[in-house]
Amino acid sequence: MEEMNKSIKYVKGVGEARAKLLEKLGIHTVGDMLYFFPRYVEDRSSYKSIHQWADGETVYFQGTVYREMMENRIKRNMVVYTLIVENDGEFANMVWFNNKYLKNVFEVGKTYQFYGKVSVKYGKKQITNPTYEALDSNLHTGRVVPTYALTDKLYQKNIRAIAKNCLDMMGGKIKEYIPAWVREEYGLSEINYAISSIHFPQNMDDYNIARYRLVFEELLMLQLGLFSMKQVKHTEHAPVIPAREAMQEFKEKLPFSLTGAQQNVLQEIAADLEKDTPMSRLVQGDVGSGKTVVAFAAIWAAVQQGMQGALMAPTEVLASQHYETALHYFAEDEVALLTGSVTGKKKQETLARIGSGSAKCVIGTHALIEDAVGFANLGLVVTDEQHRFGVNQRAKLSQKGGSPHMLVMSATPIPRTLALILYGDLDISVVNEMPPGRTPVKTYVIEEELRDRAYGFVGKHIAAGRQAYVVCPLVEESEKIDTKAATELAGQLAMLFPQYQVELLHGKMRPKQKNEIMQRFAAGETQILVSTTVIEVGVNVPNATVMVVENAERFGLSQLHQIRGRVGRGCEQSFCILFNQGKNQETRQRLGIMAKTTDGFEIARKDLELRGPGDFLGTRQHGMPTLKIADLLTDVAVLKEVQAAAKKLLRQDPQLKKEEHRLLREKIRELFRDKVAPGTIS
Ligand code: ADP
Ligand code: MG
Repeated sequence: MEEMNKSIKYVKGVGEARAKLLEKLGIHTVGDMLYFFPRYVEDRSSYKSIHQWADGETVYFQGTVYREMMENRIKRNMVVYTLIVENDGEFANMVWFNNKYLKNVFEVGKTYQFYGKVSVKYGKKQITNPTYEALDSNLHTGRVVPTYALTDKLYQKNIRAIAKNCLDMMGGKIKEYIPAWVREEYGLSEINYAISSIHFPQNMDDYNIARYRLVFEELLMLQLGLFSMKQVKHTEHAPVIPAREAMQEFKEKLPFSLTGAQQNVLQEIAADLEKDTPMSRLVQGDVGSGKTVVAFAAIWAAVQQGMQGALMAPTEVLASQHYETALHYFAEDEVALLTGSVTGKKKQETLARIGSGSAKCVIGTHALIEDAVGFANLGLVVTDEQHRFGVNQRAKLSQKGGSPHMLVMSATPIPRTLALILYGDLDISVVNEMPPGRTPVKTYVIEEELRDRAYGFVGKHIAAGRQAYVVCPLVEESEKIDTKAATELAGQLAMLFPQYQVELLHGKMRPKQKNEIMQRFAAGETQILVSTTVIEVGVNVPNATVMVVENAERFGLSQLHQIRGRVGRGCEQSFCILFNQGKNQETRQRLGIMAKTTDGFEIARKDLELRGPGDFLGTRQHGMPTLKIADLLTDVAVLKEVQAAAKKLLRQDPQLKKEEHRLLREKIRELFRDKVAPGTIS
């Protein structure tokens, strides 16, 4: 692979200046360039003699320059350049505007290739702004031509040439790392052919064959990487939990009746629990759809069967909240809470209760997966807000029991395709209905000029007894700067609203402190909570009805949806004000989607379309590499094949240790490097 790792600088046609531009596109090496796939390709190969041309059609032809380029100034700053060319005894005009560089390009009597859109005016045939190319060149015309997503000052002509030079440099010696049997079985073309044909295919069929292989390859890497991080699925026996009756009993304890969606999901869960193989089920549901009660119903069933149920939440705040909820359903001595702030004697006591099995419903944070924690008989494991946990952590909690049933709750509604990748072998249930009586949050996207009015609005609602969240701008990567911005904003708001309690919550605070601040807010002692991005997911304070988000343009739509989900949890009308400090039209449009819909799935789909899956999920949390060619919205069929192939591969060679899989393994490691703790493939 050395050639592939060679700096792009040394490729013919690049040099220092262009290398800088290429870097902006993430192209540092020859390999990067070859994996910088065109956005689309266009067939420019259908040849038409001038006498065949019709108005409006796009043609490729070869024409001989009949006379010197003509130059006509038609306005003060508008010069028209006209080149008369001939083929098969007919003439046509090639026309450009304001491009004096072209004056010395063409030689009279010489033949060139042209491509462009024909216009016929007063019987005269003309192409404005044609692409042209020397007869002995074969990059821009007369073939299927690639078009790339580019940056300023780098032109299609440049990058095509560079791509071609890279291909020539590799000379068909790119190493194949998809094993031959996989290629054969799934009809994948060989890598040199694929890479060469994705840039410069002979025809559209070639392109499609190449693309199929590269999409397959990309998804296969992703899938293998993710599968390898997953626990090896247990084939052991799980405890049979007769759940239907217990759940019925549980329902009767609730102050509300379950929605149809909640009932359906519970039935799916009950059916799983009653089998003697471990359940692995993902429950997806929009923010506020009522997933918690579903989790508790399942835990309740396990407990009735004399087993323990564990619920792991990503933050202390959320764990405490679940603990409070648990106390509605269980006696205090049946419930245990274990988080980082439970220490000393209290911790020992809690560990003992978990170990003896007297604590039946165990709630906690990551603290639950520490080695010191041992369960008496763990029957069910629930992880809430799954997207905040690494796959490894989830697996670790399961390993605390023999082979307990596993339920995963995800608040990020993700399109089915993506779920298929991320959660591979999990079954999926969807809570696709909101509890009754919710009024959708009204969302406004506003600009700086309306700040005073926005604060007036906030003040009015607080005066009416409500509470408000203010979310601070997201400052890239630096918690320190985030904190500073948040502190300033909290100070300003405190001055603006001297009659109310304003509190600040940020990521750098100790969990215990965060918890106390949240408790005060939940109790209504604080009216305005200023917070950095992490207003703890899942937090439920129904009296908070106003949400203000600063620099909303910096957030992903799905993230905004999560944030907005903190309001609209009671029966009062709630509001979300998004400050758009972004300048361009695009951000306004993007944020506009938030104002239009409150459907998390719809938003997720849009978000995915706009940003791709890596950003969509937060690459840091997921270790999802960015997809370069696969389109999760349209390549679903490929994905199914890929999953079959990945499973087959891993069944044959779970750690990809065989020689024929060595390159594949290296490639996966490279792709997932630094992103997640490696699992079995390491
Ligand atoms: P999420 O799915 O985001 O985790 P929660 O489980 O926190 O949502 O539920 C949000 C709120 O809705 C809670 O206050 C919960 O008590 C309430 N809730 C859940 N199910 C119902 C229902 N069927 N009817 C009325 N309220 C419900
Ligand atoms: Mg929740």
